[in-house]
Amino acid sequence: MDIVRIDGDGIGKEVMPPTVALLDRVTRGGINWIPARMGLECFEHCGDPLPQVTLDLVRTHKLAIKGPTTTPQGGGFQSVNVRLRRELDLYVGLRPAMSLGLPGRHERVNIHLFRENTEGLYDSTEALSLDGQSVTLTAHFTRRAMLRLARAAFLYARLFDLDTITYVDKQNIHKVWGRLYHGAFLEVAVEFPDISYNHRLVDAANMFLALSPESWGLIVTANMFGDILADHLAAIMGGLGVAPGANIGDEIFVAEAVHGSWPEKAGNGIANPTALMLSGAMLLEHMGEMELAGTIRNAIIRTLTEGDRTADLGGTLSTTEFAEAVLRRL
Ligand code: NAD
Repeated sequence: MDIVRIDGDGIGKEVMPPTVALLDRVTRGGINWIPARMGLECFEHCGDPLPQVTLDLVRTHKLAIKGPTTTPQGGGFQSVNVRLRRELDLYVGLRPAMSLGLPGRHERVNIHLFRENTEGLYDSTEALSLDGQSVTLTAHFTRRAMLRLARAAFLYARLFDLDTITYVDKQNIHKVWGRLYHGAFLEVAVEFPDISYNHRLVDAANMFLALSPESWGLIVTANMFGDILADHLAAIMGGLGVAPGANIGDEIFVAEAVHGSWPEKAGNGIANPTALMLSGAMLLEHMGEMELAGTIRNAIIRTLTEGDRTADLGGTLSTTEFAEAVLRRL
């Protein structure tokens, strides 16, 4: 099986090698890795942070795993993550949150966040006024985007036996956009009478997630709300070091941790590889290898519950020591 491997930059270069080693081990060398580049380092070397050759490789092989990439803040090039998702039409941002047996964390969390991944505030134009005193932001939202996201979410809920979907938005403020997106969601909901659904405003959703994360199943929401809620879900799990994700289109699946490139600590060997490893498990699951995905998750949970942890979880292990501890428990 060919899988495109994009290490990214910052801590991406540290969490990708142990993830690849883990996937090699569980598949007994069954993956043919196709290296590809994107991100800040790629920009510095070849002048383009997302070269056409990388897009072509992902389009051809359809499966990829990607490390985080740095985006310059307040200027510089546009986020390559946003570009990748849009160019390859990866319209579902799937961000699951599950209990990992960490002390002090909720024990029965099983949340699946479906984030619209291609439009809205992350595909907006910003225009500064002539006097430099104001900015006009123009964002575009389509019925089609919510129709296909909602359909993917309901199908997923049926597949994984999740009986409730919560639709999250801010339609008390954004009434026209709210009606367009919510209307599309409701249109899909009638096709799935076996799955119930409800609605929450994003601010209240955020609070109830903090109060009772165990009572949530699947969440469907717009791009920016999903981005913010994903980090909340990461916190519920134990932090950004453990939160997995994937960007999914009709044919392409790109596994990717929720976290960024943590440039301040890159090269120190302290990053937690769990998030990317769990993203790798999602990739195996997508390939139909449910048992291998379960093997990875169980080994990680055993490693964490038996006290082998990296510094972000209060442990002392380096990235490679933690990765070895996981391999020992496979
Ligand atoms: P970040 O995720 O890189 O770091 C935020 C904090 O999370 C860190 O200070 C650290 O405490 C913790 N953390 C993150 N990953 C960790 C790991 N593997 N192990 C342990 N702790 C971890 O977010 P940021 O500082 O907001 O962004 C840094 C850069 O990453 C920016 O350029 C941003 O644009 C980029 N970014 C990329 C992606 C992506 O490629 N998908 C996602 C988010 C941010």
